[in-house]
Amino acid sequence: MRILIADDELMSRRLLEKTMQRAGYEVTAVANGQLAAAELCKPEGPRLALLDWIMPELDGPGVCREVRKRKDQSYVYMILLTSKEKKEDVVAGLESGADDYLTKPFDPEELKARLRTGKRILDLEDRLIEAREEMRFQATHDALTSLWNRGVIMDLLGRELTRARRENKCTAILLGDLDHFKNVNDTYGHLAGDEVLKETARRLVSSVRSYDFVGRFGGEEFLVTLNNCDPAFGLARAEKIRQIIAERPVETTAGSVPISMSFGLLLSQEWGYQSVVELLHEVDTALYAAKAAGRNCVRLAAPKAQTEGARELATEPVWRRR
Ligand code: GH3
Ligand code: MG
Ligand code: MG
Repeated sequence: MRILIADDELMSRRLLEKTMQRAGYEVTAVANGQLAAAELCKPEGPRLALLDWIMPELDGPGVCREVRKRKDQSYVYMILLTSKEKKEDVVAGLESGADDYLTKPFDPEELKARLRTGKRILDLEDRLIEAREEMRFQATHDALTSLWNRGVIMDLLGRELTRARRENKCTAILLGDLDHFKNVNDTYGHLAGDEVLKETARRLVSSVRSYDFVGRFGGEEFLVTLNNCDPAFGLARAEKIRQIIAERPVETTAGSVPISMSFGLLLSQEWGYQSVVELLHEVDTALYAAKAAGRNCVRLAAPKAQTEGARELATEPVWRRR
């Protein structure tokens, strides 16, 4: 574990450094408060600190105040070392944000014991952060596939559409649904069905760019947003994703399961100011058309005014407009 020692007196700094190194700490030693605050405020700075009270530039309590100003970084456990023993000094030291204090000359065993207390508190903080991150992940991701869950993918889509409109860019919305998935469950069992869903998620993620979004929209329905893509790219990518999904069977514990997916596709630039819900309704209708056309294909949602029109963006029959 790393520890910062700040003491302007060379001898006492050396002594502390030795004691701490012998106790197994990785030591950074500095000679004034300003340097101490700078070290402790670094994003990956030490999280334990022994601070002399009286130092040039910035004293120990001043360092504590500086460090406590930051709210976004890990907790730093700070012990003040002082020859001051008066109650009001101790109170002032603790009020500056120090966690503990030790009067000089200190007993090395007591110092080590107090540092162990500090480490316990830091370990506790780590565990709390871990638990918070885990909860955050669970609240935003689908448990089976680890993709964004429905709420989050809709939220991301909403933001992406707003951004795309502002910048006059296009977002491609792709809604995919596994074909005859009920048969997969019936034939191979529900567990194999789950394995297929997981593999489908992996194939989807690996077939888009890092800044695109993939979410599990429902049981065997997935929503993909291709962000900031021109319409031709959106069309080509949708077809490519369809191919990638169907290109080989999924190897499950219950056997090899051939799969395919039908897709509804919508290119946001072709649409006006519809809401996310309205656009999703349109893409869902296109998906339904893909199912009706025999599955394992992509259908493009087109605004009503264009459906009869001559503008044919896509290759027949895969991207035929509704
Ligand atoms: P279609 O080609 O028309 O989409 O037919 P389908 O059989 O895929 O569609 P349907 O909506 O009838 O069936 C979807 C099935 O997906 C039914 C449901 O049991 C299954 N399913 C939904 N969520 C899960 C899941 O988490 N795990 C497993 N194994 N199956 C699921
Ligand atoms: Mg299905
Ligand atoms: Mg379905």
